[in-house]
Amino acid sequence: MRLTRYFLPVLKETPSEAQIVSHRLMLRAGMIKQASAGIYSWLPLGYKVLKRIEQIVHEEQIRAGHIPMLMPTLQSADLWRESGRYDDYGQEMLRITDRHGRDMLYGPTNEELITDIFRAHVSSYKDLPLTLYHIQWKFRDEIRPRFGVMRGREFLMKDGYNFDLDKDAALHAYNRHLVSYLRSYERMGLQAIPMRADGGPIGGDYTHEFLVLAETGESEVFYDSAITDLKFGDRAVDYDSVPECQAVLEEFTSRYARTDETHDAAAFAAQVPEARRRTARGIEVGQIFYFGTKYSEAMGATVVGPDGQRTPVHMGSHGIGVSRLLGAIIEASHDERGIIWPEGVTPFHCGIVNLKQGDAAADAACEGLYKALTAKGLEPLYDDRAERAGAKFATMDLIGLPWRITVGPRGLEKGVVELTSRRSGESEEISPEAAVDRIAQIYAGR
Ligand code: ATP
Ligand code: MG
Repeated sequence: MRLTRYFLPVLKETPSEAQIVSHRLMLRAGMIKQASAGIYSWLPLGYKVLKRIEQIVHEEQIRAGHIPMLMPTLQSADLWRESGRYDDYGQEMLRITDRHGRDMLYGPTNEELITDIFRAHVSSYKDLPLTLYHIQWKFRDEIRPRFGVMRGREFLMKDGYNFDLDKDAALHAYNRHLVSYLRSYERMGLQAIPMRADGGPIGGDYTHEFLVLAETGESEVFYDSAITDLKFGDRAVDYDSVPECQAVLEEFTSRYARTDETHDAAAFAAQVPEARRRTARGIEVGQIFYFGTKYSEAMGATVVGPDGQRTPVHMGSHGIGVSRLLGAIIEASHDERGIIWPEGVTPFHCGIVNLKQGDAAADAACEGLYKALTAKGLEPLYDDRAERAGAKFATMDLIGLPWRITVGPRGLEKGVVELTSRRSGESEEISPEAAVDRIAQIYAGR
């Protein structure tokens, strides 16, 4: 993409309504624009990162054997009356009446809708296990939307639902989700720690929330600092293997890590040596639940088991806060000049800065780099504006592309361009060809 043809409405001023750094930077980098309280338009740069995050989530869910689909945002109130949640959900649910006077709602979550699909089409244990998921907009009429996309009213969520014959099979699905979530967050450059949580209105005894440690997080968390040394890495886990998935769950959840809802000061003191006890704040970027037969019993989602008897299926639901993740990643990865995107989610793979637009050699070298990078399947953002170098650097630093290639007449006389890492700030002078190869190498396999 050439910047002169793109739509990147960066702001010079720091918007006064934004209280936390991720919100400020998303506004300043021209990623989002508030449409009304807690509701945002995704401008091209923000939309690109949102899509990258979605893509990682899809890839990792599909890898785990979960099946993508799409359910609507508007739902009929009748299904929610069946489960009993129409009245329970309270004011966070946006209720709508259509022209025929039918009660509808903008879905805050999808347990009812998916259970209705399941009961209409599945009746035998032979069709299990089954895990369906979608990535769809949700609406929760949050009393205090704030922090930009972190606590919106309209937000994008991946929500998945498993259907299993019994509790053991459903717990394997739970473990599979835990593994796939660990992988997903790490690919986004994030450490998200599974912490024991509270069932809340969805209900359930088995539930973990995934928290990214950040001062601006809304949750208070208590954990054993040894947990932060755990890395999922690129290990290959067989998602069909019960012991392998169970082993990952044990490795990542055996140490003390809880949110304030489940925190137990006595257990914390007894289980964790004082030097490793941490109290901090965290951003919830996902949650997994096993809730047994709560919805399947209420809504008659049963299968005929191997014994010929009908039994309600065991279910769980599993969510990732896709749009909130943008905020969480920025909270975890920025400096005073702007965002620093991890390679896994960056909107463009690298920036090209032309120090002297209009100089024949510099223009030609930039065009050459642009073509060579594009030919390798990479997406560069070429700053081809007739601006001062300082302004171009400031824009690149603000929008946070992890790599920048700087091209100027003086370097070109020596046959070199400058390759700079946004994270370390380190630069090196190399030939344009070597710069292209290096960038291609960095992104190989991503
Ligand atoms: P919270 O406690 O933050 O209100 P929740 O526990 O009600 O969230 P879940 O039902 O577990 O949320 O939804 C799954 C994920 O969706 C959450 O882990 C979070 O990342 C994201 N999410 C929930 N509410 C919002 C919101 N208002 N804005 C943006 N993302 C949200
Ligand atoms: Mg939650």
